[in-house]
Amino acid sequence: MSPGHTLATDLNAVQREAVLYLNGPCLVLAGAGSGKTRVITQKIAYLLRECGYMGRHVVALTFTNKAAREMAERVKTLVDGKLAKGLTVSTFHSLGVRFLREEAKYLGLKPQFSILDAHDALAIIQEMLATTDKGRLRAVQQTISLWKNALMDPDAAALAALTPGEIEAANIYRSYNATLAAYQSVDFDDLIRLPALLLAENAQVRERWQARVQYLLVDEYQDTNLCQYRLVQCLSGQRAMFTAVGDDDQAIYAWRGATVENLAKLTTDYPALKIIKLEQNYRSVQRILSAANQVISKNPNLFGKKLWSDLGVGEPIQVTSMDNEETEAESIAVRISAARFERHAQWRDFAVLYRSNHQARALEQALRNLRIPYTISGGQSFFEKAEIRDILAYLRLVANDDDDPAFIRAVTTPRRGIGQATLQTLGQFAVERQTSLFTALFEIGATERLAVKQLEPLQVFGAFIQRIQWRAGRGQDNAPSKAAKPAEAAGPILDDLLGAIQYERYLYDTLEERPAQTRWQNVLELLGWLKRKADEDGLSLLELVQHVALVTMLERSDDEDPDAVKLSTMHASKGLEYPHVYIAGVEEGLLPHMGRDEEDGDPARAAESLAQRIQEERRLMYVGITRAQRSLHLTWCKKRRRAREDVVREPSRFIEEMGLGEVKLQEDPATQALSPRQRLGMLKELLSKAGSA
Ligand code: ATP
Ligand code: MG
Repeated sequence: MSPGHTLATDLNAVQREAVLYLNGPCLVLAGAGSGKTRVITQKIAYLLRECGYMGRHVVALTFTNKAAREMAERVKTLVDGKLAKGLTVSTFHSLGVRFLREEAKYLGLKPQFSILDAHDALAIIQEMLATTDKGRLRAVQQTISLWKNALMDPDAAALAALTPGEIEAANIYRSYNATLAAYQSVDFDDLIRLPALLLAENAQVRERWQARVQYLLVDEYQDTNLCQYRLVQCLSGQRAMFTAVGDDDQAIYAWRGATVENLAKLTTDYPALKIIKLEQNYRSVQRILSAANQVISKNPNLFGKKLWSDLGVGEPIQVTSMDNEETEAESIAVRISAARFERHAQWRDFAVLYRSNHQARALEQALRNLRIPYTISGGQSFFEKAEIRDILAYLRLVANDDDDPAFIRAVTTPRRGIGQATLQTLGQFAVERQTSLFTALFEIGATERLAVKQLEPLQVFGAFIQRIQWRAGRGQDNAPSKAAKPAEAAGPILDDLLGAIQYERYLYDTLEERPAQTRWQNVLELLGWLKRKADEDGLSLLELVQHVALVTMLERSDDEDPDAVKLSTMHASKGLEYPHVYIAGVEEGLLPHMGRDEEDGDPARAAESLAQRIQEERRLMYVGITRAQRSLHLTWCKKRRRAREDVVREPSRFIEEMGLGEVKLQEDPATQALSPRQRLGMLKELLSKAGSA
């Protein structure tokens, strides 16, 4: 036992029961802040320290990188490093990557397969549909994704497709998969789907993995989809040694194919399932907790739950109406800086949550104006920047030269005298030969199809990539070959690559100075981050590439935890907690979010699906409220700009549902009566006070 940590002092009696239970599958079903995640980390410690489990036989899974990282940190404080050796604490997706890397040959993949981002996946669908209608493309992508997550292959999808839209998507689905295979690529959904399928089909692989995974723990179980359910089932096998923890009231990923029914399904698939309910909340004061309880009580509820807390009543929840998005953001920024001063708090004690990514813009601006440090998570914007995608295309190509989308991007950026016509000829040739563009590049020289002037830059490029591949530890046959050469460290290769392609010069040649500078800064930030990752986790360049794809897909949250206000979507805030929480934009239409009207013609079905959507939004509200430990502040705007028009808004129904007794409605006195200039003066004064405090 490490000093200061004992099961007896760290856990209440019911939590302890969940930790000690090893007689079979175990489900901890409990509301927010009741210590579910704590049960997982303590159970890992218990298994390693007291039950003689080896680190490499224990696997804990969760959904976001940040949650996985926090969990790993927590375990580190509980368990000696030696005991934890080989322990897996990761997201479902990164376990999937590891699995696929090891078992690639069974699926016709190379270990260095690419993970296509949503952007490239959409481009493939666009190619097939021959349309630029983004809405239609996304709908097809979403439908395919739901099929994948429900473990339906193209045949099953074709049978199930009813509407014209679905039939179209089913046709695309088949060729989309074939294209991915040709590129030696998988998409995000495949990272879990393919392992689940292979484990179900191949007894040898299954036995190997079951011998390896002797105890499995899953956090946020309510958000698993069918693939993830199967994966857990196959990995834990007959012995069913697993602990899952979850809260049906926090299920917020139905739109990604997650199904709360997985909770109910556990009870039927595992008759011996031990169900443990936790009722004490250790996170929030009573006012916050009871507001959360009231809201969620409006939803039909699968499993009855009560939650209580003995952290005191707490201060009233504040609800403030604002004129518009800008004043809302400004008021939140002002109030945070005042509260930090008054409460002797730190910036990191504050979080601002919102429903939609676009709300972040005004908030960022307001925080920046007041020079309040912040970090932002839940957005993927960094990895969507052109310059970042440019550099990553090179890395992807180095790892996997069947990755045609990466090839095209890299070969044309920076421009190196390779024109459209050349690429078309090359593409034609690759199709005839059924090879990748990269392979075609080496073979086309033997034909007379390209003039020397066209051929030469292609070959120079090909040789350049091969040299980097060689340094990264890949053999000439383009298979990762242990015999070839030990991989060089990622850092120097990255530096050389960037120098060789003269990316900085390219930016300054093609752009104005300011944007060029910004982009180059971003590239340097990426580079610094990659090198840090490579160092810290001992990753080779090739491993790094897949790691990056995962981070890109899930979310980029900053590695370090500086003293900064947290800006986050409500979705990305799941599992986390903050002393003081501000939720912005608590308005009808935004929260609950109203998408497009159901396209379905059947009004009964449309009404049903609307009702379900509202329920999911209500769970999201519940997640948001229950992030707060001590104070909670909601704001809504009377007007909000939409497509250059001011639209009148109403407060969200969820405000009323929180129970008026608990809520203090007010106009914002601090900012509304002052002119912008007065406000700024006040802010400066506040800040100087806060700075000297
Ligand atoms: P969520 O549903 O939001 O994921 P959770 O059920 O996973 O919440 P935890 O995050 O594990 O809850 O715990 C909430 C807070 O309560 C944490 O700060 C945790 O350290 C604390 N906590 C949990 N159990 C205890 C306990 N027995 N004694 C003291 N603090 C506890
Ligand atoms: Mg949790």
